[in-house]
Amino acid sequence: MYEKLYDQNAYAVEFISEVMSANLTTWNDEEVFEFVLEKTSFFPEQGGQTSDTGMFYDTDTENEFEVFHAYIKDDTVYHLARLVIKPVETKRKKKAEEEEVVIDLKTVKLPKRIIGRINWDERFDKMQQHSGEHLVSGTVHRLFGYDNVGFSLSSDNVTLDFNGKFTDEDIIEIEKTVNRAVFENFKVKVFFPDEEELKKIPYRSKKELTGRIRLVEFPGYDICACCAPHVHSTGEIGLIKIVSAEHFKGGTRMSIKCGYRALNDYGSLLESVKGVSRLLSVTKDDVFHAVEKLNKDYRDAKFELAGVKAKSLDDAFIKVVESNDRAHNNPIMFTSGMDAAIIRKSINNVIDRTDGYVGVFYKSDKEGYSYIIGSNVKDCTVLASALKESFDAKGGGNKSMIQGNIVATEEEIKELLKGYTDGVFL
Ligand SMILES: [Zn+2]
Repeated sequence: MYEKLYDQNAYAVEFISEVMSANLTTWNDEEVFEFVLEKTSFFPEQGGQTSDTGMFYDTDTENEFEVFHAYIKDDTVYHLARLVIKPVETKRKKKAEEEEVVIDLKTVKLPKRIIGRINWDERFDKMQQHSGEHLVSGTVHRLFGYDNVGFSLSSDNVTLDFNGKFTDEDIIEIEKTVNRAVFENFKVKVFFPDEEELKKIPYRSKKELTGRIRLVEFPGYDICACCAPHVHSTGEIGLIKIVSAEHFKGGTRMSIKCGYRALNDYGSLLESVKGVSRLLSVTKDDVFHAVEKLNKDYRDAKFELAGVKAKSLDDAFIKVVESNDRAHNNPIMFTSGMDAAIIRKSINNVIDRTDGYVGVFYKSDKEGYSYIIGSNVKDCTVLASALKESFDAKGGGNKSMIQGNIVATEEEIKELLKGYTDGVFL
């Protein structure tokens, strides 16, 4: 029976333990050490939460091991760790540091007893998130009757899946309720009820449980079977913010940020808003309306510009076809930054005023060209075949209009088109 210190005391950062077994093993193609201890504070990955990380110190040899993962199998916690390679002390230190220290891991003396230390900042961050999650899930269950059917907690993300949907007002109500629980700052109870007691307790659980059950209670808000470390008092969770709630598999996937994560998120959002408010010379409270107006102005300007471009394209085509110069009766233009809908419209405007091809190649030598070509008299598929043969053009169309994309330069395309038109381009 190994003792799980994290079951009883979430705040046990450092501990001393006998080593039950230690051996070299392979993890993702890397040679690492695997330890089983008599007791441990390292919470292993389980129930959707990633494991603690930290250090083992061997006081006999002064060897240090960096624990990067812990997992549980048949009720035993396995710790995976890398030996910390220390720089070699030498008079020619600078040179020694440049040399890679190679240690045969098979020769490393493994500890019989270690001092273990978990990364407290990471642990406390996960405690804030996980306790916040219980308050949210318990509150959702109480107010809406939905179950938490999926949970994931890693170093940068917390998601909760519910088998029901929420309105924006529901989300606000959930947030207000759970943050009230934080401000009430009451004690969180962690206990192992006996079988008889357990029958009387209406606790939440994702699955049927057997054996010794650990319950975590937020009095008045939630009781849930859970194996993870939690805060002593709700005040330690800090702000609970629901950052998104999206439809997911017929229900909702919610993302939350609690405590320091919520604080950091608020900080970065505020920086963004301040940046935008500086750019637009408005107060941060007016940012939304200022961006809304800017967006409208931009769309109006784009619309106006599209009109100007369409007019200039029409003018250019008409000028050519009205010149009555047969050499210019195939108006084909090379341009950049043009909209396909405008081009098609311009071609259609002029197509019955010439017997030749009317077309536009747009974009650039660097990114290649898109093209639209039309004709009332000539067969456009002839040009399409030529473009495909020479430049492996991708596209389609029919006798009266073709369009597609090619990777070729303006010069190369013009060279080809000379064989099919009069060889004069706009
Ligand atoms: Zn839990």
